[in-house]
Order: sequence, then structure tokens, then C-alpha cells
Amino acid sequence: MTDHLHITTPESISGDVELEPSLRPHRLGEFIGQGRVCDALDIAIQAARQRHDPLDHLLFHGPPGLGKTTLASLLAREMGVNIKTTSGPVLEKPADLVGMLTDQREGDILFIDEIHRLRPVIEEFLYPAMEDWQVDVRLSDGPKANTMTMKVERFTLVGATTRFGLLTAPMRARFGIVQRLNFYPPEDLATIVRRSSEILGVEITEGGATELAKRSRGTPRVANRLLRRVRDYAQVKADGEIDVDVAIDALQMLDVDEYGLDEMDAQVLKTLIEKFEGGPVGLNSLAVALGEDATTLEEVYEPFLIMEGFLKRTSQGRMATPRAFRRFGYTLPEGKKAPQESLFTEEG
Ligand code: ADP
Repeated sequence: MTDHLHITTPESISGDVELEPSLRPHRLGEFIGQGRVCDALDIAIQAARQRHDPLDHLLFHGPPGLGKTTLASLLAREMGVNIKTTSGPVLEKPADLVGMLTDQREGDILFIDEIHRLRPVIEEFLYPAMEDWQVDVRLSDGPKANTMTMKVERFTLVGATTRFGLLTAPMRARFGIVQRLNFYPPEDLATIVRRSSEILGVEITEGGATELAKRSRGTPRVANRLLRRVRDYAQVKADGEIDVDVAIDALQMLDVDEYGLDEMDAQVLKTLIEKFEGGPVGLNSLAVALGEDATTLEEVYEPFLIMEGFLKRTSQGRMATPRAFRRFGYTLPEGKKAPQESLFTEEG
């Protein structure tokens, strides 16, 4: 019950995010799913430890909430090193990084979130640090400025981005390990929900966990958020246990889509159907109609819609599938050939 007391501290009531760290897996063995990524990391960790070397620079990319930050911090734990965290948009000038880089001990991790948003001057500054373990510090301003070269310890840069396509080629080339995180299948999300329930001390049935998992947009962060909201509902309206019925009622009350679509997902599909008769339409035209940029649409929103069989990429452009028409209560326009069902989940 002491848990409830903690919730009243100012940090903890300011939002969901503050409660997240307690749900974060701390060791690779606790990290659920993403088997291919975990295997690659496990090998990299073991090899680096055997050689007494720092880990290679590592880049994680994929949609938000899939575990990039979590992996960065658990790598530090597995390697027994310190980690410092920053993000692309907050770094204004190289001086903002000098302290961080020169303070590091050998093998320490510098984690840069949203690394695609680094300013060019910061990127230029980072390259020699990543490759030759040195930085050029400007001692004065102006074209003839004096610079001083300082050594840094051999560290590991871990970058995370939701927008791999926006990362510059020289930056990409400097990462020894590049891993993409994919949306989680419902079985993995159900395991995550059960693990989080245990940590939060919430009772949940198998069916309850499955229901939450189905509606979590393939994303652990969403699963954890829904779990907390449904927990409140279960506490107030039921006897505290989340079973299928409680989960369904609570999610209905919270207006959570039964397929896990969020507002933007719905907007993409509705635009495709309403303005382009379901397509095919080119990525750029669709992006303009949505007021969203094409890369974000392609890298952040489309993968989930394709995985769930709502959208298809064809050589003529994007198409809404019959499933998308049905979801929003539309009938397929006359004479329109539906894309083959068997191709719905294909990504190319
Ligand atoms: P990202 O950095 O990709 O946006 P985070 O690492 O912040 O995502 O993950 C969001 C939350 O989801 C974390 O706080 C953690 O609790 C949970 N989470 C992410 N991946 C996993 C996983 N594989 N197993 C269990 N929980 C996870």
C-alpha cells in the first residue's frame, strides 16, 4: 500500500511519463519481444566485454514507444557503464556537448534521442569524437577562430530516431550497429501488460491482458498507458480485477478504438477513402492532403496501418483496403478492384 503514498509526490502526479521508469525493463532478459534485436545486442555485449572494449556506436530506429530509450539504458546496465542522455533538438551549439563528452569514462554511453534533429554544426562536431576520440573546441568566435583539440575517452554513442530517412548519410555511416524496432505482436504486448500489472500490483486475467494488448497499436508505451487507465476503472467500477468485460467496458468508455487505431491513423484512412476514393494515390499527394510531411507519414504512421491490413503500398500508390472501408462504415466504390487479401500485410 505504500505505493499509493508515493503517487502523491509532485513528480509522480504530473503525468503518465513520470511513472514509466518503474515499468522499464532494466536487463536485456526482461526486455520482451524484438528477438532479433535482442540477439544482436546480446552478441555485441558479450563480444565487447570479452575484448574489454566499449560497445560499437549503436542506432535504434522505429516508431515512438517501442523501447529505444529503454534499450539504451539497459545497455549501460549490462555493460556496467554510466549513461548520459540528451536529445537532438536541445543541443544548440557544440559547447553544449563538450562537458558531456570530456566527462565520460571509457565505455560510457552517450544517448542522443531524436538524433535526426541534430543541427549540422553539432553533427560535424561529433564525427571526430565518434571516430578519433577527439573534439575540436573553439576558443573564440569569428572566421579565424582558434581551436583546441581535446581528447575524449572511447565512448559509445547510442542514437535513437523515429525518422531514419532524415538521418544524414555520414551520420548513418558512423554507427557500427543499426537496429530497427518493429511493432509488437499482440502476444508480446499481452506479456508486457502482465509484467506491468505485476509491477503495479494490479490483478488482470489472461483475457483482460489480451484485450488490452489488441488495442495498444503494437506499442508497449500505449499498452502501459491503457493499463493504468483501465486499472482506475476496475478499481472504481469493478472489484479491482481487470477481466475481459472490465477491459472492454473501460476501453469503450475511454473511446479506445478496437483495432488500436489512434486519431492520426483514422485521419490517414479517412482522407484516403473520402478524398481519393481509396486510392491508389501517391505518397506526396496524400501527405499534402493530411498536412503532414511525407517521411513522417511513411515512417511513423504507415507501418502500423500496413501491418494491420488497413493500407497497402502498390506500384501506383497507397490504397485503402476493404478492411479500412469497413472500419469506417464505407462500401467499396463500384468497379474498384480490391487489393488481394493475401498481400495486405506485405510492406513493399
Ligand atoms: P521509445 O524510446 O522507443 O520511444 P521507450 O523506451 O521510452 O520507447 O518505451 C516506452 C515504455 O514502454 C517504457 O517505459 C517501457 O516501460 C515500455 N517498454 C518498451 N519496450 C518494452 C519491452 N520490450 N518490454 C517491456 N516494456 C517495454
